[in-house]
Amino acid sequence: MTDHRTPGSEPAGRPRPDGGRGFGTRCVHAGQAGPDPATGARAPPIYQTTSYVFEDADHAADLYALEAEGDVYSRFDNPTVATLERRLASLEGGTAAVATGSGMAALDAATSILAGAGDNVVSASSIYGGTHTYLATMAERRGVEARFVDTLDPDAYAAAIDDETAYVHCETIGNPSLVVPDLEGIAAVAHERDVPLLVDNTFATPALCRPLDHGADLVWESTTKWLHGSGTTVGGVLVDGGSFPWADHPEKFPELGGESPAFEGTSFAERFGDRAFAVAARHRAVRTLGDGQKPFDAWTTLQGTETLALRMERHCENAATVAAFLADHEAVAWVTYPGLEGHETHETAAEYLEGGFGGMLTFGLTGGYDAAVRVCEATDLAQFLANVGDAKTLVTHPASTTHAQLSEAEQRASGVSPDLVRLSVGIEDPDDILADLAAAIDAATGAGAGGAGPGSKDNGETGDDAAGTSDTRGAD
Ligand code: PLP
Repeated sequence: MTDHRTPGSEPAGRPRPDGGRGFGTRCVHAGQAGPDPATGARAPPIYQTTSYVFEDADHAADLYALEAEGDVYSRFDNPTVATLERRLASLEGGTAAVATGSGMAALDAATSILAGAGDNVVSASSIYGGTHTYLATMAERRGVEARFVDTLDPDAYAAAIDDETAYVHCETIGNPSLVVPDLEGIAAVAHERDVPLLVDNTFATPALCRPLDHGADLVWESTTKWLHGSGTTVGGVLVDGGSFPWADHPEKFPELGGESPAFEGTSFAERFGDRAFAVAARHRAVRTLGDGQKPFDAWTTLQGTETLALRMERHCENAATVAAFLADHEAVAWVTYPGLEGHETHETAAEYLEGGFGGMLTFGLTGGYDAAVRVCEATDLAQFLANVGDAKTLVTHPASTTHAQLSEAEQRASGVSPDLVRLSVGIEDPDDILADLAAAIDAATGAGAGGAGPGSKDNGETGDDAAGTSDTRGAD
C-alpha cells in the first residue's frame, strides 16, 4: 500500500488557496471571515429568511440587473449557504461555488448551463447509476445526446468528442467500479477540442483529490456523502475552477460567452471573469430551476466539513484493513479496493488520490448473486441502505438497487456485476467492522470461520497476489 500525505495536505511546492492556510484549517474556518457582525456569534448563523430588505430602489434595480452583488431571495442566494459555498470552493481550490439541493441538482445545473438541444455529453461509463440515468434519459429527452465511453481510455473520449460536445465527464473514483481514470489524460483530449472537463469528486472529496489541480475545469459533488459525513442531509455543490476560456467560445457556450437571454447586455464571462460559470449556474440554472440548497442543510453540512480531513483519514485506514481481511477470506471470490496492488487502476489511484485510497470497496462472494443479497441482509453493524460516505459502515447490492434501472449490459459497463456487494467503510472501531462482516459472510454462505479473523491484519497491506482486479471476478 502506497504511503500518503495527511488527507488534503498540499504537496510541497503547490500553492495553497485561501490565504495559505492548510487543508485541515480550511475545513474548519474557510468561508467564514469572523464572528457574525450583527451578534458576535462565532458559529455560522442559520439565516432562515426568504428575502432581504433593499436599501432603496436603485439598490434593488442594481441587484436585479446583477450590477450589484448581494442577497435577494433565498431560492438562489442565502448567507448561510454562501458560507458553505466559500468553504467548498476553498477546499476544492476553485474560484467560487454554488450549493444545490442535491448532488443531482448540481449536475442538472451544470448541464443546463453548458448544453442545449443538439449538443452531446461524453461521459465515462463507470459512473453512479443515477448520473447514467440522468444523462441517458433526462438530458437525452431535452435533446442532449449521452455518449458513454471506456472510462479508462483517453483515446475513447477523444474519438467521441465532436464540435457539438458540451462537456466531458467522469468520476474521480467510479461508483461502484472504484476505477480511477487518468484525469490529466482526459483533460488533455477535452481541451484539445475546446471542451471543458466536469468531474464528480464525490467518492474522493477534496481531502483525497482535487481534480482542478489535474486539469478539470469544473467539479460537482454530492455533499450528502463524506463532505457532510453523518447521513442526515442531502445536498450538492458545483465548483468553478475559473480556468476555462468561455469568452473565446460565445457560440458554443452562449450562456457563458454570449449575451445572456435573461440579463440584457450581460456576458457572464466578461462581467464575472473567472467566476463566470458559478454566477451563471446560480442566476441561470438554480434561480430558474429552484433547486438551491437550504440554509439549515448548509449549516449541518458546514459542521460536517469541519472534521472532513480527520474522518477521511479514518475511512481510508479502516477500508484498507477491511480490504485485506476480505482478500484473505475463503468465501470471498474477489475484492476491489484501489489501495490493493492488484487493483486495475492502483497506479493511477496512487498518483491521483493523494490523501488515501478512499472509504469504498466492493467484493463478491463465492455464492454469487444470492449470497450478495443475503450478506447485505445479514450484517448488524453495517447498515443495508442506499447511501455511502456516512460515519457508519453501509452495505448495499447495486445490481438490485442503485443500478437496477440499467440493463445488465449497462450495469456491467458501469462496473456492476450481479454478485457485487458495495461497502462504504465507516469510522467505527475496525475490529467491530471485521467481526460484523465475518458473521454476515458466515450467515450468507455457511462458510464457517473461514476468514482470517477480526484483527488478524493490522496494517491493511496485501501482497501482489491479493484479489483486486476485475479479472478475478468469478461467480456471478
Ligand atoms: N455522485 C455519486 C458518485 C453518487 O454516488 C451520488 C449518489 O449516490 C450522486 C452523485 C448523487 O448525489 P445526491 O444523492 O446527493 O443527489
